Amino acid sequence: MDCVFCNIISGAIPAKKVYEDELLVAFHDVNPQTSVHVLAVPKEHIASAAVVGTSHKDLMGHLWTVIPVLAGQLGIADGFRVVTNSGESAGQTVPHLHFHLQSPK
Ligand code: AMP
Ligand code: ZN
Repeated sequence: MDCVFCNIISGAIPAKKVYEDELLVAFHDVNPQTSVHVLAVPKEHIASAAVVGTSHKDLMGHLWTVIPVLAGQLGIADGFRVVTNSGESAGQTVPHLHFHLQSPK
């Protein structure tokens, strides 16, 4: 499948990775909108938040335990935003589930 995030996960496309475990990878957004802008991405290809289901419960729970670890590592634990855009009409441009972790400015 020609998916940019699957290609980052496989190592076919380089990225500035800040975190990786068996379920997730996180890397700097190539076009940062804030001074710190990282994407937290499940390794499983899930198209968007619209198709998350009960089979993803453990993965989603795990992701939300990694977010504060990442925020601490990136020095933004005092204030950060987590956003996922689901569907083109909502601004999703990469059809592989990802969570923007951003500093406030
Ligand atoms: P969204 O528009 O919500 O789907 O977010 C996709 C994000 O992926 C955008 O902020 C892009 O800048 C980012 N992006 C696209 N390609 C890459 C890449 N090769 N490496 C890092 N970030 C990327
Ligand atoms: Zn993918």
